Amino acid sequence: MSLDGTYDEANIFALILQGKIPATKLYEDDDTFAFLDIMPQTRGHALVISKWSKARNLLEMEDEALAQVMATVKKVATAIREALNPDGIQIAQFNGAPAGQTIFHLHVHILPRWEGDPKGFVAHGHGGQADVAQLQALADEIRAHL
Ligand code: 5GP
Repeated sequence: MSLDGTYDEANIFALILQGKIPATKLYEDDDTFAFLDIMPQTRGHALVISKWSKARNLLEMEDEALAQVMATVKKVATAIREALNPDGIQIAQFNGAPAGQTIFHLHVHILPRWEGDPKGFVAHGHGGQADVAQLQALADEIRAHL
């Protein structure tokens, strides 16, 4: 999959929005949904998606949906900062498989970063799939600031 293609209604994030597969929710409003990444690159790695846009990537995204997603990115990043006290926060977004995109429903990564920790992205995150109970506990910490 690359920059061109059609939106797959059965992509993982579409299934999460339809409630067909579970996700550890951080925040939701009428237009956006924020949840923890299941294979986190860092502690508190979160994702934000549009609930209505069928954009696969940034180049296809409606300006309105983009503004809604970025407003939620700011809101959730602020809560992550308050909850986890990172030294920095990386915001990332990939377009097309050669750029690292694996799920073709536009999403923005929020990655709290700590000095001295490894930078960059690794396949399947650090430590693979996270323990769901641990993710839920982390989500509770972050949600307390939303
Ligand atoms: P991309 O590489 O497409 O920018 O990022 C996709 C992200 O989705 C990856 O960081 C990956 O760990 C995450 N991911 C893949 N499958 C699932 C899932 O079923 N649930 C959640 N919460 N995250 C997922």
